[in-house]
Amino acid sequence: MTFNPDADVSDNKVQRRGGGRTAAIAGGGVVGLGAVVVLLISAFTGVDLTGLIGGGTGAQPQATSSSEGSVQSCNTGTDANNSVDCRVAAVSLVLNDYWSKHVKGYVEPGQVNVDGSTSTPCGTASNDVGPFYCPSDQTVYIDPTFFQLLHQQFGAEAGDLAQVYVVAHEYGHHIQNITGTMEKYPNNGTGPTSNGVRTELQADCYAGAFIASMTQEKDKKGVPYMKTPTEAQISDALDAAAAVGDDHIQQQSAGYTNPESWTHGSSDQRKKWFATGYKNGLGQCDTFSVGTP
Ligand SMILES: [Zn+2]
Repeated sequence: MTFNPDADVSDNKVQRRGGGRTAAIAGGGVVGLGAVVVLLISAFTGVDLTGLIGGGTGAQPQATSSSEGSVQSCNTGTDANNSVDCRVAAVSLVLNDYWSKHVKGYVEPGQVNVDGSTSTPCGTASNDVGPFYCPSDQTVYIDPTFFQLLHQQFGAEAGDLAQVYVVAHEYGHHIQNITGTMEKYPNNGTGPTSNGVRTELQADCYAGAFIASMTQEKDKKGVPYMKTPTEAQISDALDAAAAVGDDHIQQQSAGYTNPESWTHGSSDQRKKWFATGYKNGLGQCDTFSVGTP
Protein backbone atom coordinates (compact mmCIF):
# COMPACT_ATOMS: atom_id res chain seq x y z
CA MET A 1 0.00 0.00 0.00
CA THR A 2 1.49 3.27 -1.06
CA PHE A 3 0.50 6.82 -1.80
CA ASN A 4 0.92 8.02 -5.35
CA PRO A 5 4.27 9.85 -5.23
CA ASP A 6 2.83 12.95 -6.96
CA ALA A 7 -0.28 13.25 -4.78
CA ASP A 8 -0.56 16.58 -2.98
CA VAL A 9 -1.08 15.97 0.75
CA SER A 10 -0.02 19.43 1.91
CA ASP A 11 -3.56 20.40 2.93
CA ASN A 12 -3.63 18.12 5.94
CA LYS A 13 -4.33 19.98 9.16
CA VAL A 14 -2.86 17.37 11.48
CA GLN A 15 -1.05 18.79 14.48
CA ARG A 16 1.94 17.42 16.32
CA ARG A 17 1.77 17.80 20.06
CA GLY A 18 3.56 16.42 23.05
CA GLY A 19 6.36 16.59 25.52
CA GLY A 20 9.03 14.62 23.72
CA ARG A 21 9.81 10.93 23.98
CA THR A 22 8.80 8.99 27.04
CA ALA A 23 11.54 8.02 29.43
CA ALA A 24 11.45 4.41 28.26
CA ILE A 25 11.84 5.21 24.60
CA ALA A 26 14.32 8.00 25.16
CA GLY A 27 16.58 5.60 27.02
CA GLY A 28 17.90 4.16 23.79
CA GLY A 29 20.30 1.24 23.67
CA VAL A 30 19.38 -1.69 25.87
CA VAL A 31 16.63 0.11 27.72
CA GLY A 32 15.06 1.30 24.47
CA LEU A 33 15.11 -2.18 22.98
CA GLY A 34 13.59 -3.62 26.13
CA ALA A 35 10.83 -1.05 25.96
CA VAL A 36 10.00 -2.06 22.41
CA VAL A 37 9.83 -5.73 23.38
CA VAL A 38 7.62 -4.96 26.35
CA LEU A 39 5.32 -2.81 24.24
CA LEU A 40 4.97 -5.60 21.70
CA ILE A 41 4.26 -8.18 24.38
CA SER A 42 1.68 -5.80 25.79
CA ALA A 43 0.21 -5.38 22.35
CA PHE A 44 -0.24 -9.10 21.79
CA THR A 45 -1.38 -10.14 25.22
CA GLY A 46 -3.45 -7.12 26.08
CA VAL A 47 -1.63 -6.98 29.39
CA ASP A 48 -0.07 -3.68 30.25
CA LEU A 49 3.50 -4.56 31.12
CA THR A 50 4.94 -1.14 30.67
CA GLY A 51 5.30 -0.84 34.43
CA LEU A 52 8.18 -3.28 34.08
CA ILE A 53 10.22 -0.72 32.24
CA GLY A 54 12.55 1.38 34.33
CA GLY A 55 12.66 -0.76 37.47
CA GLY A 56 8.94 -0.88 38.10
CA THR A 57 8.38 2.83 38.19
CA GLY A 58 6.47 2.65 34.95
CA ALA A 59 7.10 4.44 31.71
CA GLN A 60 6.00 7.76 33.00
CA PRO A 61 6.21 10.49 30.42
CA GLN A 62 9.03 12.86 31.08
CA ALA A 63 8.89 16.16 29.37
CA THR A 64 12.31 16.49 27.84
CA SER A 65 11.10 18.91 25.23
CA SER A 66 7.77 20.19 24.12
CA SER A 67 6.62 20.48 20.60
CA GLU A 68 3.57 21.80 18.87
CA GLY A 69 2.91 22.51 15.25
CA SER A 70 2.17 20.90 11.95
CA VAL A 71 3.72 17.68 10.68
CA GLN A 72 7.08 18.51 9.14
CA SER A 73 7.86 17.91 5.45
CA CYS A 74 4.50 16.43 4.60
CA ASN A 75 3.62 17.74 1.16
CA THR A 76 3.61 14.86 -1.30
CA GLY A 77 2.79 11.19 -1.58
CA THR A 78 6.52 10.54 -1.51
CA ASP A 79 6.73 12.20 1.90
CA ALA A 80 3.82 10.04 3.08
CA ASN A 81 5.53 6.88 1.82
CA ASN A 82 8.75 7.78 3.63
CA SER A 83 7.48 8.90 7.03
CA VAL A 84 4.96 7.37 9.44
CA ASP A 85 4.22 10.80 10.84
CA CYS A 86 3.32 12.11 7.38
CA ARG A 87 1.52 8.93 6.32
CA VAL A 88 -1.01 9.01 9.13
CA ALA A 89 -1.44 12.76 8.53
CA ALA A 90 -2.02 12.20 4.81
CA VAL A 91 -4.57 9.46 5.50
CA SER A 92 -6.68 12.10 7.25
CA LEU A 93 -7.17 13.91 3.92
CA VAL A 94 -8.41 10.75 2.26
CA LEU A 95 -10.70 9.92 5.18
CA ASN A 96 -12.19 13.40 5.30
CA ASP A 97 -12.84 13.37 1.54
CA TYR A 98 -14.50 9.99 1.83
CA TRP A 99 -16.69 10.79 4.82
CA SER A 100 -17.75 14.20 3.53
CA LYS A 101 -19.41 12.31 0.65
CA HIS A 102 -21.24 9.90 2.91
CA VAL A 103 -22.32 11.97 5.92
CA LYS A 104 -24.47 15.05 5.42
CA GLY A 105 -23.02 18.01 7.31
CA TYR A 106 -19.80 16.13 7.97
CA VAL A 107 -17.47 17.88 10.40
CA GLU A 108 -13.80 16.90 10.28
CA PRO A 109 -12.32 15.62 13.54
CA GLY A 110 -9.12 17.04 14.91
CA GLN A 111 -6.11 14.79 14.55
CA VAL A 112 -3.06 14.98 16.76
CA ASN A 113 0.13 13.05 16.14
CA VAL A 114 1.43 12.54 19.64
CA ASP A 115 5.11 13.21 20.22
CA GLY A 116 5.88 11.29 23.41
CA SER A 117 2.84 12.11 25.47
CA THR A 118 0.24 14.81 25.78
CA SER A 119 -2.82 15.36 27.93
CA THR A 120 -6.29 15.18 26.42
CA PRO A 121 -9.84 15.44 27.82
CA CYS A 122 -9.87 11.60 27.69
CA GLY A 123 -6.61 11.15 29.61
CA THR A 124 -2.98 11.06 28.60
CA ALA A 125 -2.17 10.08 25.00
CA SER A 126 1.11 8.24 24.50
CA ASN A 127 2.55 5.10 22.95
CA ASP A 128 1.59 3.22 26.11
CA VAL A 129 -2.04 3.87 25.34
CA GLY A 130 -2.14 3.46 21.58
CA PRO A 131 -4.37 5.34 19.17
CA PHE A 132 -7.82 6.48 20.27
CA TYR A 133 -10.66 8.85 19.52
CA CYS A 134 -11.78 11.28 22.22
CA PRO A 135 -15.47 12.16 21.75
CA SER A 136 -15.49 15.25 23.94
CA ASP A 137 -12.97 17.16 21.84
CA GLN A 138 -13.76 15.21 18.64
CA THR A 139 -10.10 14.44 18.10
CA VAL A 140 -8.18 11.37 16.94
CA TYR A 141 -4.92 10.85 18.84
CA ILE A 142 -2.21 8.86 17.08
CA ASP A 143 1.27 8.07 18.34
CA PRO A 144 3.49 7.41 15.31
CA THR A 145 5.93 5.49 17.55
CA PHE A 146 3.28 2.82 17.97
CA PHE A 147 2.76 2.75 14.23
CA GLN A 148 6.48 2.31 13.72
CA LEU A 149 6.26 -0.81 15.87
CA LEU A 150 3.44 -2.10 13.68
CA HIS A 151 5.62 -1.48 10.68
CA GLN A 152 8.63 -3.28 12.13
CA GLN A 153 6.58 -6.23 13.28
CA PHE A 154 4.59 -6.87 10.14
CA GLY A 155 6.84 -5.53 7.41
CA ALA A 156 6.48 -2.50 5.24
CA GLU A 157 3.64 -3.69 3.03
CA ALA A 158 1.25 -5.07 5.62
CA GLY A 159 2.33 -2.50 8.16
CA ASP A 160 1.40 0.45 5.96
CA LEU A 161 -2.11 -0.75 5.33
CA ALA A 162 -2.53 -1.78 8.96
CA GLN A 163 -1.72 1.82 9.88
CA VAL A 164 -4.46 3.02 7.54
CA TYR A 165 -6.87 0.53 9.05
CA VAL A 166 -6.22 1.75 12.59
CA VAL A 167 -6.64 5.44 11.67
CA ALA A 168 -9.80 4.61 9.69
CA HIS A 169 -11.18 2.71 12.70
CA GLU A 170 -10.72 5.78 14.89
CA TYR A 171 -12.45 7.98 12.30
CA GLY A 172 -15.27 5.43 12.45
CA HIS A 173 -15.77 6.39 16.09
CA HIS A 174 -15.92 10.04 15.05
CA ILE A 175 -18.70 9.17 12.60
CA GLN A 176 -20.55 7.33 15.38
CA ASN A 177 -20.15 10.40 17.56
CA ILE A 178 -21.37 13.03 15.09
CA THR A 179 -24.23 10.90 13.74
CA GLY A 180 -25.61 10.16 17.21
CA THR A 181 -24.84 6.41 17.27
CA MET A 182 -22.75 6.70 20.43
CA GLU A 183 -25.53 8.57 22.20
CA LYS A 184 -28.18 6.13 21.00
CA TYR A 185 -26.20 3.06 22.08
CA PRO A 186 -24.34 4.03 25.25
CA ASN A 187 -21.91 1.72 27.00
CA ASN A 188 -24.01 -0.95 28.71
CA GLY A 189 -21.40 -3.36 30.00
CA THR A 190 -19.39 -6.06 28.31
CA GLY A 191 -20.03 -9.22 26.35
CA PRO A 192 -20.39 -10.17 22.69
CA THR A 193 -23.75 -8.45 22.24
CA SER A 194 -22.97 -5.34 24.28
CA ASN A 195 -23.20 -1.90 22.74
CA GLY A 196 -19.46 -1.50 23.28
CA VAL A 197 -18.62 -4.50 21.11
CA ARG A 198 -21.16 -3.49 18.47
CA THR A 199 -19.65 0.01 18.42
CA GLU A 200 -16.16 -1.37 17.87
CA LEU A 201 -17.25 -3.80 15.17
CA GLN A 202 -19.08 -1.06 13.32
CA ALA A 203 -15.90 1.04 13.36
CA ASP A 204 -14.09 -1.96 11.82
CA CYS A 205 -16.81 -2.26 9.18
CA TYR A 206 -16.48 1.45 8.38
CA ALA A 207 -12.71 0.99 8.06
CA GLY A 208 -13.25 -1.88 5.60
CA ALA A 209 -15.67 0.17 3.51
CA PHE A 210 -13.21 3.05 3.46
CA ILE A 211 -10.25 0.90 2.40
CA ALA A 212 -12.32 -0.61 -0.42
CA SER A 213 -12.89 2.80 -1.98
CA MET A 214 -10.01 4.94 -0.71
CA THR A 215 -8.33 4.89 -4.13
CA GLN A 216 -11.24 6.89 -5.55
CA GLU A 217 -10.34 9.96 -3.48
CA LYS A 218 -8.24 12.49 -5.38
CA ASP A 219 -6.20 15.60 -4.66
CA LYS A 220 -6.85 19.08 -6.11
CA LYS A 221 -5.25 18.13 -9.43
CA GLY A 222 -7.17 14.90 -9.75
CA VAL A 223 -4.30 12.60 -8.73
CA PRO A 224 -5.62 9.65 -6.68
CA TYR A 225 -4.06 9.84 -3.24
CA MET A 226 -3.45 6.13 -2.94
CA LYS A 227 -2.58 3.14 -5.05
CA THR A 228 -4.80 0.07 -4.97
CA PRO A 229 -3.66 -2.50 -2.42
CA THR A 230 -3.34 -6.14 -3.47
CA GLU A 231 -5.50 -8.86 -1.95
CA ALA A 232 -2.42 -10.24 -0.23
CA GLN A 233 -1.74 -6.86 1.35
CA ILE A 234 -5.34 -6.64 2.53
CA SER A 235 -5.10 -10.09 4.04
CA ASP A 236 -1.79 -9.35 5.77
CA ALA A 237 -3.01 -6.02 7.06
CA LEU A 238 -6.14 -7.65 8.45
CA ASP A 239 -4.08 -10.16 10.39
CA ALA A 240 -1.82 -7.40 11.64
CA ALA A 241 -4.62 -5.09 12.58
CA ALA A 242 -6.59 -7.80 14.34
CA ALA A 243 -3.50 -8.79 16.30
CA VAL A 244 -2.73 -5.29 17.47
CA GLY A 245 -6.19 -3.83 17.36
CA ASP A 246 -6.94 -1.19 19.90
CA ASP A 247 -8.56 -3.76 22.16
CA HIS A 248 -5.11 -5.20 22.74
CA ILE A 249 -3.33 -1.99 23.45
CA GLN A 250 -5.76 0.08 25.40
CA GLN A 251 -4.47 0.86 28.82
CA GLN A 252 -7.50 1.19 31.02
CA SER A 253 -7.39 4.14 33.30
CA ALA A 254 -9.85 5.85 35.54
CA GLY A 255 -11.76 8.68 34.00
CA TYR A 256 -11.44 7.44 30.46
CA THR A 257 -14.49 8.17 28.41
CA ASN A 258 -13.31 7.03 25.01
CA PRO A 259 -14.81 3.93 23.42
CA GLU A 260 -11.49 2.09 23.35
CA SER A 261 -11.91 1.41 27.04
CA TRP A 262 -14.96 -0.68 26.26
CA THR A 263 -14.63 -4.37 25.56
CA HIS A 264 -13.94 -5.13 21.92
CA GLY A 265 -15.04 -8.07 19.85
CA SER A 266 -12.89 -11.10 19.18
CA SER A 267 -10.34 -11.05 16.38
CA ASP A 268 -12.69 -13.24 14.32
CA GLN A 269 -15.56 -10.83 14.81
CA ARG A 270 -13.34 -7.92 13.90
CA LYS A 271 -12.13 -9.61 10.72
CA LYS A 272 -15.68 -10.57 9.79
CA TRP A 273 -16.98 -7.01 10.08
CA PHE A 274 -13.98 -5.50 8.35
CA ALA A 275 -14.61 -7.92 5.46
CA THR A 276 -18.32 -7.05 5.45
CA GLY A 277 -17.51 -3.36 5.01
CA TYR A 278 -14.80 -4.09 2.49
CA LYS A 279 -17.00 -6.30 0.29
CA ASN A 280 -20.45 -4.80 0.79
CA GLY A 281 -19.92 -1.18 1.76
CA LEU A 282 -21.20 1.17 4.44
CA GLY A 283 -24.82 0.14 3.98
CA GLN A 284 -24.09 -3.24 5.55
CA CYS A 285 -22.40 -1.88 8.69
CA ASP A 286 -25.40 -1.98 11.03
CA THR A 287 -23.94 -4.04 13.86
CA PHE A 288 -26.74 -3.01 16.20
CA SER A 289 -29.71 -4.74 14.55
CA VAL A 290 -28.23 -8.24 14.26
CA GLY A 291 -28.62 -10.74 17.09
CA THR A 292 -24.97 -11.51 17.68
CA PRO A 293 -22.62 -9.37 15.62
ZN1 LIG B 1 -12.23 1.40 18.66
